[in-house]
Amino acid sequence: MLEELLRSLPNRTRPLTILIVDDQPLNVRVQHTVFRDSFEVLMATDGEQAIAICQDQHPDLVLLDVMMPGLDGHDVCRRLKESHATREIPVIFVTAQEDAEDEALGFASGAVDFIKKPINPVTLMARVKTHLALKLQGDLLRSIALVDGLTGVANRRQFDAHLSRSWRRCQRERQPLSLLLIDVDQFKRYNDHYGHLAGDECLIKLAQVLSASLRRPDDLIARYGGEEFACILPNTPYQGALDRANTMLDAMRAAKLEHAASTTGDVVSISAGLATLVPHQDSTPQALLAAADARLYGAKQNGRDQVQGVDLRTS
Ligand code: GH3
Ligand code: MG
Ligand code: MG
Repeated sequence: MLEELLRSLPNRTRPLTILIVDDQPLNVRVQHTVFRDSFEVLMATDGEQAIAICQDQHPDLVLLDVMMPGLDGHDVCRRLKESHATREIPVIFVTAQEDAEDEALGFASGAVDFIKKPINPVTLMARVKTHLALKLQGDLLRSIALVDGLTGVANRRQFDAHLSRSWRRCQRERQPLSLLLIDVDQFKRYNDHYGHLAGDECLIKLAQVLSASLRRPDDLIARYGGEEFACILPNTPYQGALDRANTMLDAMRAAKLEHAASTTGDVVSISAGLATLVPHQDSTPQALLAAADARLYGAKQNGRDQVQGVDLRTS
């Protein structure tokens, strides 16, 4: 069950990883013995360390002691649930406490389950496997919801969310936000000449080329529509975004995908429309998209295989 789920997750190569947190090294060792043959096991002996490991290594599940000096289990769990980067990691409390009030507190801070000390290895393993399966199902759903099935890049939905997030952040920080719309040149002819399957392969290749052209973690490439891609470049001024776009065009040409039916050139090329602004309350992400789309249209009209752009800060 777990293996099957793991295989069905795109982009996942890491083995299943769990984090054991307990201020008593003996307790950590006992649990480690239960899991070491089945999973990758990380260990921490205090709350701060546990949070740092979660942010850094994103384990698939945390087994968390409740009573610890410094940050206790409830604090750690609450902090993990507050942070965007760690909130999907399920937390199971491992506790000697028996009262209902304590359990209510634990569930309120975001735990998915409780396991009583002293632990029973069989019960512990069974519960952990159940919650790992749920976690992987969640990962799978999230990836289906956010990733384009053909090319593996972000889908329209993730694009929309990232654009409004980037808009708000750049507005707050008074930073430029650049947006690229990218469209394959004469793709209808490509499909007609090579067939639809080859067309799909071409889109997969383009997605790889575009992804490889990005450098910052907040940059995003998305499949915007059929043969159209979009790229969000936060904190990027016009000239920097223009350089990115030209890198993409060069890389696509350099990939040398034959396009015998094209009147633009011998290989598959792309055109791009660029718009840059500093987000402000009198404008909208839709206006930025419309400006980039108008430039893309201009690039097509002007002979394709080129970028046209507008810096809305200066016009
Ligand atoms: P232009 O250079 O002006 O963009 O010409 P074009 O032929 O690329 O433009 P047009 O929008 O007329 O045609 C786009 C074509 O892209 C039409 C459609 O069949 C094809 N297409 C859209 N989505 C997919 C897809 O997922 N797979 C394949 N194989 N083709 C697709
Ligand atoms: Mg096209
Ligand atoms: Mg098109």
